[in-house]
Amino acid sequence: MTSMERPAPGRLLIDGGWREALSGKSFDTTNPADESVITSVAEAGSDDVDLAVQAARKAMLGPWGKTTAAERGKILWRMGDLIHERLASLSLIETLDTGKTLFDSGKIELPMAAAIFHYYAGAVAAVGGRTLASRPDAFTFTLREPVGVVAAIVPWNFPFLLASWKVAPALAAGCAVIVKPASQTPLSALEMGRIGLDAGLPPGVLQILPGGGSSAGMALVRHPGVDKVAFTGSTEVGKNILREAAGTMKRVTLELGGKSPNIVFADADLEAAAKGAFNAIFYNKGEVCAAGSRLLVERSIHEEFVARVAERAEQVVLGDPREKSTRMGPVVSAQQMEAVLGYVERGKSEGARLVAGGRRALEVNGGKGYFVRPTVFDGVTPEMTIAREEIFGPVLATLEFADLDDAIARGNATIYGLAAGVWTRDVTKAHRVARALKAGTVWVNAYNLYDPALPFGGFKQSGFGRELGLEALDGYLETKSVWLNLV
Ligand code: NAD
Repeated sequence: MTSMERPAPGRLLIDGGWREALSGKSFDTTNPADESVITSVAEAGSDDVDLAVQAARKAMLGPWGKTTAAERGKILWRMGDLIHERLASLSLIETLDTGKTLFDSGKIELPMAAAIFHYYAGAVAAVGGRTLASRPDAFTFTLREPVGVVAAIVPWNFPFLLASWKVAPALAAGCAVIVKPASQTPLSALEMGRIGLDAGLPPGVLQILPGGGSSAGMALVRHPGVDKVAFTGSTEVGKNILREAAGTMKRVTLELGGKSPNIVFADADLEAAAKGAFNAIFYNKGEVCAAGSRLLVERSIHEEFVARVAERAEQVVLGDPREKSTRMGPVVSAQQMEAVLGYVERGKSEGARLVAGGRRALEVNGGKGYFVRPTVFDGVTPEMTIAREEIFGPVLATLEFADLDDAIARGNATIYGLAAGVWTRDVTKAHRVARALKAGTVWVNAYNLYDPALPFGGFKQSGFGRELGLEALDGYLETKSVWLNLV
């Protein structure tokens, strides 16, 4: 094995070195496909957080604080290259930890993460202030300065990719970042730490602290030495973080949950829409913040369309996510599986009609692993729990609508506003619906497309702030106005 294939140590990355936790604790991370322990990882406590914050502050005062944009761009580019060089081992680690297929991790998500580092390697050049010619007696201009030490708290559904959404723009802006991965999936973040070191980041600039949410996560949120919290996760935890961050007036950006509508009009290309509706909810086992989990179908085609989607769901091959033949792996944990199956029972008891799946797939892998059949409910009405709450698993709720206004009203009838899909051949209708939907992203005749240059984030209780694009840089910069007296 070459050194690049050897996994990063299961320790904390603090100040450029791999350390055992001062907390003295560690935790096991497991493979959801067979319930086996992959490895044990050091668990950060509040003393470890304190040490990392001190190292990050020191790094900001040291050489990192004096780097040019071009130097930062070079390191970011190298990080993108290293992701490509290590693609095979990185994607295997991600698949083992999350249960996502090797195709999804290796062909889609890790390459996308590399593209994000490459994008911000160039975008560093876009960081700049303005010169304001408003006064003859002064030279006035703005400076954009790094916000400082950033705590990046990320969830388990796209561990490496969502960490890259925060780490790349934060480094581009000149910040120091402490990543707290989800305790279910700590491994790929440790690899990102190693990539940062190998690409030339000075000690303390990118640190990785696996640990619990209410312990290490909350210690970061409360720490006076952390200037900004960039959080992706559930709306409930996001609200808690917002409250706690108020104590030190930290900058906060929140990428939270969703219950995104996917609206299919009768004039759509129905084959493309059925495939799109299927992928919208079942990509990554439904563990996608933007999942099209509410399928709204025009009444005249409702029955036929739902049957098409259900048929696709019935054909899905579940299995070991490393196998080429597998289309869907296990959900991430036993706890998540129980939560998803609980929603299935709720759907049935509230009167929705089960038309596909709806059970644990015990026939897969000898009953080991957290496999749930892709599930489709029909006859869902807006007040039902499965129409309102984020399930974050392979469960689709289908509802019908009467006309364009009804589609918009139903699409917006949610506390969330992360994403939406619209399927129609009518361009005017597509534009009208795209404008009327209260969502941070609207896909027309497509779903789940992402690009490093396109900002992503939520309306309403899906959070605030934007990731990706030049907009993400704003979240890691402060604006300073400078007056130079000319009299
Ligand atoms: P979660 O909120 O339980 O955990 C997310 C992260 O926060 C984890 O690292 C966790 O350890 C940490 N955390 C938990 N409690 C904390 C606390 N009190 N203080 C500080 N940190 C804490 O979410 P999850 O179950 O890991 O992920 C699923 C959720 O994430 C879903 O709601 C999903 O929609 C959302 N999500 C949103 C986006 C987006 O871009 N909007 C992307 C992916 C996932």
